[in-house]
Formats: sequence, structure tokens, C-alpha cells
Amino acid sequence: MGRPMTDCLFCKIVSGDVPAEIVRESAGALAFRDINPQAPTHVLVIPRDHRPTVAELAASDPGLLAEVVREAHQVAVDEGIAETGYRVVFNTGPQAGQTVFHVHAHVLGGRGLNWPPG
Ligand code: C5P
Repeated sequence: MGRPMTDCLFCKIVSGDVPAEIVRESAGALAFRDINPQAPTHVLVIPRDHRPTVAELAASDPGLLAEVVREAHQVAVDEGIAETGYRVVFNTGPQAGQTVFHVHAHVLGGRGLNWPPG
């Protein structure tokens, strides 16, 4: 089990100490709208337990990582973008743009998405 981190913003969203627009909840994961959306749909899916990166989540609890990915797909279904297409991104490490070190899947869609990303 990852322990809640007192200085972690996303642990505070899990505990309710920081508000967020929650769109889905499952036993192990939480999905909420990004406060600075980069697409018409931009939702973050996080495990309730604190893990800094997707690599650490994969190593310590692959079942929980699978739950996060399942929930990401369900967000796309709920948002009506599962058929047209959507992107699931785990920014990992500073050079990739990770700023919050509580692993999160970005679910992006609702517009054409460029490849390669910037
Ligand atoms: O991948 P990265 O770590 O940069 O993503 C963090 C994301 O968390 C950003 O897209 C940012 O807008 C979002 N965020 C949020 N709610 C907060 C703080 C950050 O949705 N209270």
C-alpha cells in the first residue's frame, strides 16, 4: 500500500482536502477534470494510493495500474470519445513534463491530436 503523502497535491484530492471536479470513482482509482485543460476532454486518472511514477506503480501493483487504465477507458466512454479516439499519457520524469509526482494518466480527446506530441 502506498501511504498518503502530506505534501502531495493529489493525495489531498483523494482525501478531499483539495477540491476537484471528480467524474469517476472506483475502489482503487479516482478521475477528475484537469484544472488547465489542453483538449475538450482532459481528465486525470490517479490511483488512490500514492505512487510517484507509472514505473513504480507497475512494479509495486500491476493490478492497480490495470485499474487506472480501465478507468481511463471508461472516462473516454462516458465522455463520448471512445469511438472517435483519445489519448492516454503518463508523463514520467521532469523532461517529459511531469510536475506532480503522484502518478496520473491524462485522458485527452474531443479534438484532433497531433503526433508527435510537442
Ligand atoms: O503530467 P503533469 O505532472 O505535468 O500533470 C499535472 C497536471 O495536473 C497538469 O495538467 C495540471 O493542470 C493538473 N492539475 C490539476 N489540479 C491541480 C493541480 C494540477 O488538475 N490542483
